[in-house]
Amino acid sequence: ELANRMAERGGNVVKSLMKLGVMATINQVIDADTAELVIGDFGHKAKRVSDADVEIGLVAGPDEDETLMSRPPVVTVMGHVDHGKTSLLDALREADVVSGEAGGITQHIGAYQVQSASGARVTYIDTPGHAAFTAMRARGAHVTDIVVLVVAANDGIMPQTVEAIRHAQAAKVPMVVAINKIDLPEADPDKVRTALLNHEVVVEQMGGDVLCVEVSAKKRLHLDKLEEALMLQSELLDLKANPDRVAEGAVIEAKMERGRGSVATVLIQRGTLHIGDTFVCGKEWGRVRALVSERGERLEEAGPATPAEVLGFNGMPEAGDDFIVVADEAQAREVSGYRQRKDREAQFVKSARGTMEQMFERIHAGEAKELPVVIKGDVQGSVEALIGTLEKMGSDEVRVRVLHSAVGGINESDITLAKASDALIIGFNVRANPQAREMARRDGVEIRYYSIIYNVADDVKALLAGMLEPTF
Ligand code: GDP
Repeated sequence: ELANRMAERGGNVVKSLMKLGVMATINQVIDADTAELVIGDFGHKAKRVSDADVEIGLVAGPDEDETLMSRPPVVTVMGHVDHGKTSLLDALREADVVSGEAGGITQHIGAYQVQSASGARVTYIDTPGHAAFTAMRARGAHVTDIVVLVVAANDGIMPQTVEAIRHAQAAKVPMVVAINKIDLPEADPDKVRTALLNHEVVVEQMGGDVLCVEVSAKKRLHLDKLEEALMLQSELLDLKANPDRVAEGAVIEAKMERGRGSVATVLIQRGTLHIGDTFVCGKEWGRVRALVSERGERLEEAGPATPAEVLGFNGMPEAGDDFIVVADEAQAREVSGYRQRKDREAQFVKSARGTMEQMFERIHAGEAKELPVVIKGDVQGSVEALIGTLEKMGSDEVRVRVLHSAVGGINESDITLAKASDALIIGFNVRANPQAREMARRDGVEIRYYSIIYNVADDVKALLAGMLEPTF
């Protein structure tokens, strides 16, 4: 290996080692110091690389403009429970002309693509709600281009509607509002539009730029309008990808299946995936043995924004893992081996301080200028007072950004949101439920409890002071 890299003959390297008193065979492992001496002997200069260098160049830089082609948007449906997210996804899927022709049965693989009569294509993530969305984000996967916010016209804005809005805003993903259940006599879409104003969502009918359509998932009303809005939003985003390169994507879902092994639904984000491609996926690697669509068809390849089940994993990946096609098995093994070692090390050092400290590091590196917080309190009055106090603090250099605030105990959704944005959670006269506490411990999210506003202000001031960059 060393001889190869120096473009010298193996025998000469062995001879050089002998001169140093090392009796080595051609395929023996030698330590770095010895290697450096040998390299010097040949008149070369050694450059020490770290273990992490296996990741360098794994993900290529951005594609040249002229290689980019339009791609379908990837859409996640969010909203309050029972407002019709699942019904809407089902209704939209029925509109697919391709599956209509095939008459096939579709199965849940975590995402599906719909082609409308006009030829426009949209990819939907088939797990409604913000839990999956934020969990993916927390793992570094940015798959969703547009969030469809479903609000039932008879029910209006509810707590999970607000959570969904906050999650979309924190991820900086644009929303299209679908006011659902307009078939009901008590439906009041105007009230919904007005109420959205309280949450910084200004729909077009109110003079804003958030697209908003009225639909009925049950009666299949105005679904074409929703699709139009999605296409319009997608045009505004100018979504493009290079299909003619090695594939990169993210895992949407993964499961173990009898007779099939580890199967993962991968959403391709750029490039085209082919059968036989060797890939790295999170800590795992594999070789594509088969690609299967949600209609159960065998595919030869999958291009940008296309979800497909991938068979051929050597281990079980996780939702949100990156998926990258590599040159060969040697590279795949090297990267996955490195990631597994790194993961084991990380297990040791993971602690609540970790995330906050990482954030301070980012601030010192000039990458972050805000202390993101999630505020939960016992009454609206104290929550508002806290927001008022905290938002006034800080300077031009650093300030507090309230990602989400609500009345109520700290729940799992708060933790996923805080994790995804490295935020601090402030509990004012409220506690975290046991599941949330466990999640916070596991994910290294910091929760601080208070009962006096003055103490919150004091602590946050200290945190901000610690965040300030030295001035010269
Ligand atoms: P999810 O919890 O948001 O996924 O909501 P579901 O899709 O499960 O719908 C909850 C309930 O609302 C079900 O009983 C649906 O039949 C009903 N529903 C969904 N969409 C509509 C609609 O457009 N009109 C009416 N009247 N009912 C609807």
